[in-house]
Amino acid sequence: MNEYDSDRILDIANEAGYTPTNNLLETDCYVLNTCHIREKATEKVYDDIGRIKKKFRNQKKPILLVTGCVAQAESDEMIKRSNYIDGVIGPQSYHLLPEIIKKIENKNKINLTEFDTIDKFDKLNTIRNSNSKVSTFLTIQEGCDKFCNFCVVPYTRGPEFSRPIFEILSEAKQLIENGSKEIILLGQNVNAYHYKNYKLSNLIHELNNLKGLERIRFTTSHPKDMTDDLIETYSTCNKLMPSLHLPVQSGSSKILKLMNRKHNINDYLYIIEKLKRKNPLIKFTSDFIIGYPGENQSDFNSTIDLIKKIKFINSYSFIFSSRPGTPASNLKSEQIEILKERLKIFQKESDKIKINYRNHLVNKNSQVLFENKLENQEKYFGRNEYGDPVIVESKTDLTGKILKVKINHFNKNSLFGEIENNNKRDFAA
Ligand code: SF4
Repeated sequence: MNEYDSDRILDIANEAGYTPTNNLLETDCYVLNTCHIREKATEKVYDDIGRIKKKFRNQKKPILLVTGCVAQAESDEMIKRSNYIDGVIGPQSYHLLPEIIKKIENKNKINLTEFDTIDKFDKLNTIRNSNSKVSTFLTIQEGCDKFCNFCVVPYTRGPEFSRPIFEILSEAKQLIENGSKEIILLGQNVNAYHYKNYKLSNLIHELNNLKGLERIRFTTSHPKDMTDDLIETYSTCNKLMPSLHLPVQSGSSKILKLMNRKHNINDYLYIIEKLKRKNPLIKFTSDFIIGYPGENQSDFNSTIDLIKKIKFINSYSFIFSSRPGTPASNLKSEQIEILKERLKIFQKESDKIKINYRNHLVNKNSQVLFENKLENQEKYFGRNEYGDPVIVESKTDLTGKILKVKINHFNKNSLFGEIENNNKRDFAA
C-alpha cells in the first residue's frame, strides 16, 4: 500500500509544482513514506534521516517530511527525536501536502495525523492517477477493525473504510488507459471491502468486464472475510489469477486465539478446500509470525505441519516483533535463541516446498505478463500466473505482453525461460 501511496504523493506533489529528481543534492523536499509493521522498518527511517542530514551538511536544508504509519504512530516523538524533520503526516493526511509545504516554508512544524480517509480520497479523485506501470496497485479499502493483538494497523491506518465502487472503476479505467494490464486491488483487509451493497466479489466481476485489463489480483485478505461469493469468483472471473495471499500467522489454533485472529485452523483449512474446489489450479502464499508469546514447541510443530499440508508456494516469516501500543506489546516470548532456531527450521522447510514447486514448473509453459526491461540488459522481467518473477532474454520489446514461456531453470529469486513460438494461453500448474 505504501507503493500506491508513494505514487499518489508524487501525483499530488506534481500538482503543487514539484517534479521528481534522482539528483539527491538538488532536492527541495524529501518525503519519507514509512512502514511501522516491524521495529526494523521504524529504525530504518531514523537511519535515512541521518543520511540525508549528513549529505546536506554544507548546504541549505531541504524540507523533510515523514509520511505513513511511523509518522502516524510516533508523531510528536519523531519531531522531538529529530529536529531535522519539518512535518509528520499520517497515511490519511498526505493529500494536504501542497498546503503543508507552504506552511513549512513559513517556518511552521507540522503534525497531521487525523484519520480523514474520506477527505483524502475526495482530493485524490480530483487528481488523475498517472501511474503507467504494467502491473499496478489500486487501493480500494483502508484500515482494519479486526484488532489482532500483535498488529499496529488499526492504530496507524484507522478504522475500515471502503472507497465507492464507481471511484475505483473510474481510477481503474485511467490506469488501463495509461497502459496497465494488471491491477492488484489493495487493502489492509481487502476482502472486508464493502460499499453499500457492493462487496469485493462485485468489484472483481466489474473489473473482469473491463476491456484492456488482463489480470486481477487482490491483497491482503483475512480468512474470516473469505466469503462464498468471493471464493466463487475464482471459477467465474477468468482474469482473476489463481493465486491467493491468505495470511494465517500460525498453525496452532491455541496461538490464533491468543492472537485474536478470529478464526481457527479448521476454518482456515475449510476455506482452502473450498477455493481448491472452485479452481483446482489455485496456489497459496501466507504470512507467519514465529514465536508469538505463548507459542511452545508443539504449537510451532503445528505450524510446520500446516505448511507441509498446504504447500504454500511462498511463506513470509518473521520472529514476533513487539509493537508499542498493541495488546501483545508487553507479553514475553520464549528466549530469542529458541525463536531464531524455530525461524531457521521454518524457513528451511518453506524453502524446500518452494523449490519443489518451482521444480514442477521446469520444462513446462507459464503465461508471463512482461513488466519491464532489465537495466542495460537484453532481458525482460515479468510474472507468471502465480506472481513468480520470470526473466527471459529478448531483443524485441516484450513490455505489456502476455506470452507463453517455457521455464528452463530457476534460482532463489526468479524463474528463467524462453518464449515459446506457439503462444496459445494455458496454465502451467
Ligand atoms: S487483520 Fe491484518 S491488518 Fe487487521 S489487525 Fe489483523 S493483522 Fe492487522
